[in-house]
Amino acid sequence: MTYTVATLEVSERTFREIADKLLAAGYQHLFMSDGSIDMYGIALAAAPRPVGPVCTCLTNQLRPHYCEVHAA
Ligand SMILES: [Zn+2]
Repeated sequence: MTYTVATLEVSERTFREIADKLLAAGYQHLFMSDGSIDMYGIALAAAPRPVGPVCTCLTNQLRPHYCEVHAA
């Protein structure tokens, strides 16, 4: 069956997070020949907002470092 999919470009980190979760759950068949993911039937939901301070050490790898959890 051939059908058209719309492509939503996201950051490499966002793609990796989604891809890793899908692979861990056994959804290898969703990966298309060009490496993109056909997410038909899979809803994307935001995680609940954290109550306390958030560790941004990973985020800060791209910027000058400041993390409200690990600030010296
Ligand atoms: Zn941190």
